[in-house]
Amino acid sequence: MSFIRRVALASAALLMVAQPVLAATPPKAAAVQKVTKKAGPVSDFAPSADIIKTHMTFLADDLLEGREAGTRGYDIAANYVAAQYALLGVKPAGDNGAYLQRVPLISFRPAGEGAMTVTGADGKAVALTFGEDFLPTPQAQATDLTVEAPVVFVGYGVVDPTRNRDDYAGLDVKGKIVVMLGGAPASIQTEERAHLSSPNTKRAEAEKRGAVGVITLSTPSGEKRRPFKAGVAGMKAWRVVWRNAQDVGAIRAPGAPSLASLSQAGAAKLFAGAAGSLDAAMAEAEKPEGVVKGFPLATKVKIELKTEVEKRESSNVVGVIEGSDPTLKAQTIILSAHLDHIGIKPNAKPGEDAINNGALDNASGIATLLEVARGFKNSKVRPKRSIILLAVTAEEKGLVGSDYFANNPTVKKADIAANVNLDMPVLLYPFTDVIAFGANRSTVGDAVKHAADRLGIGLSGDPLPEEGLFTRSDHYRFVEQGVPSVFLMTGFQNGGEKAFTTFLKTNYHHPADDLKQPIDYQAAAKFALVNYEIARELANAPARPTWKKGDFFGAAFAPAGHPSAAK
Ligand SMILES: [Zn+2]
Repeated sequence: MSFIRRVALASAALLMVAQPVLAATPPKAAAVQKVTKKAGPVSDFAPSADIIKTHMTFLADDLLEGREAGTRGYDIAANYVAAQYALLGVKPAGDNGAYLQRVPLISFRPAGEGAMTVTGADGKAVALTFGEDFLPTPQAQATDLTVEAPVVFVGYGVVDPTRNRDDYAGLDVKGKIVVMLGGAPASIQTEERAHLSSPNTKRAEAEKRGAVGVITLSTPSGEKRRPFKAGVAGMKAWRVVWRNAQDVGAIRAPGAPSLASLSQAGAAKLFAGAAGSLDAAMAEAEKPEGVVKGFPLATKVKIELKTEVEKRESSNVVGVIEGSDPTLKAQTIILSAHLDHIGIKPNAKPGEDAINNGALDNASGIATLLEVARGFKNSKVRPKRSIILLAVTAEEKGLVGSDYFANNPTVKKADIAANVNLDMPVLLYPFTDVIAFGANRSTVGDAVKHAADRLGIGLSGDPLPEEGLFTRSDHYRFVEQGVPSVFLMTGFQNGGEKAFTTFLKTNYHHPADDLKQPIDYQAAAKFALVNYEIARELANAPARPTWKKGDFFGAAFAPAGHPSAAK
C-alpha cells in the first residue's frame, strides 16, 4: 500500500508530514484546522522523513557494529548524537558542560560453581550439587562472598500495602537468609505484578526487615516458563550494572543480595525437617491469589560465591533546550530513548551477517528524539519548561544507563516533571494509533490523549497486558524515582499488530533488524510529530504532571504526586 493512498484514507495531519521538510511547502492551514477543530491547534512543525532516515542510516550502519554499551561502536554513536545536538543548538547537559555523561559499568558473572551446604537440626551438613540442586548468583559488589545463616521461607516475599499483603507477617528474618518463590501471584495486575516480582523490589523488602541474603525457588509454573536447566546453560552470561562511588556495582538493597537459585531437588534438601510443607506451599502458590504462608526452616545454609568482573566505560548523551518561563524553566521534561543495542552476534558462521544493527531497536527512537529536538529549536515559541534530550546507554543490559541518570541526574531530581520514553517504535506501516504504557496512571497520559486528538489518531490501551511493558523500558527508572512517565509506541491498528508480531518473531534482536526492512519514514515523521506535540503540551501546561490519585506506582514512589515531594 502506498503512502499516497493512506493520506486519502487518514487524516490531514498525515498529509502535513507526508513531505520531507527540506523540500516541503508548509501545510495548508485549512487542512490542519479540519482535524484540530476540537482539540486545539497543532504546531507548525513538520518533521522530516528524510532527516529521520539520515539519522537511522548512520546509526544502523554496520560500521557501528551493533552499538553495544562499552564498545567503540556505541561511542561513535554517542559522538554522533552529541554532534547532532550541537548542530541543533541544543546545549550540553551532561558532565561538566559536556554532552556526555560518563556511565561507569561493571560486567559480572559467576567464577566457578560456588559452594552451598545445608546443615540440619541434627548438625549434619549436606553439600548441594551445582547445576542439579543450586545455581550461584554472581555479585556486583564482591568477588568473594560467604554468607552463613539460618533460613526462613517467606512465600513469594511480596509486600503490597495496596492489597493489604505482607508475606513477612509474623516472620522474624533479622540476620537470616530468606528463601522465596520467584514471581508474584497471577491475580495481581500485570504491570504491578512485574514490579512486585522484580528481585530488586523483593530484596528491598527483605533488607528492610534485616535479612542478609535471598535464595530463590521457582514455582511449578515458573519452572515451566524458565526451567532451572536453562539457568544452568545461561549461567556464564555477563550481567551489567553501573559502578557507584566506591567503584563497585550499584545494586539495590546490597544488604540482602541474591545468593542462589534452587531446583526442586535442592529445595527439598533445604526444607528437610521443616515445620511446614513445601508441597502445600507450592499448591497455594499456583492459585490466583497465591497466599503462601511462610515459616522458619530447620536448616542453616552456608554459601560461598566467587564472581568474575570486568569494568567498562560508556556514556549517556544529554542535551537541554532551556525553557522560556523564568519560574517553570527550572523544571524539566525528559525525552529519552536508548542508543545502545546488542552488538555483534557471538559464534556467527563465516560469511553470516552477524551485526545486530538495531534499526528499529532503537535507532528509530533516537532519530525521532533528534527530530523532535529540531522541532523545538525551529519553533518561534520556546517551551516554558526545559526539555532534556536523553540518549541512554546499556538499556539492553537491564535499563542501566537510564538507572544511572535517574540516580545521578545532571539536573535537579525534584524538578524532573515528566519522562516520555521511546523504545522500538515499529515504523513499518502507516500507523493510525499510538500506545502509551502508563497513560492511565498519571496526567502525562492526558497530554498524550490531547496530542493524539489534535493529530486525529487514536490512543489505544495496552495490547499486550501480560508483558507488563510499563516496567520494561527506560522510563521505568524514572518511575522508580517518582517521575510521572509514559512509554510511547506505535499502535496495533491499521496493520500494526501484524507488523509488530512479525517483527518480534523474525527481526527483533537479530541482524535482520536493519535498514533492509521496509521502513516507513513518513510514519516515522508522524511519530516524531506525536512526540513533539506531547512534549510541547507537557512543557507548557500550567501545572506539572502528577500521578493519578491512588495509582499503584504513584503511591509506591511519589506519595504526593511527583518526585519533589517523594522521600
Ligand atoms: Zn532491544
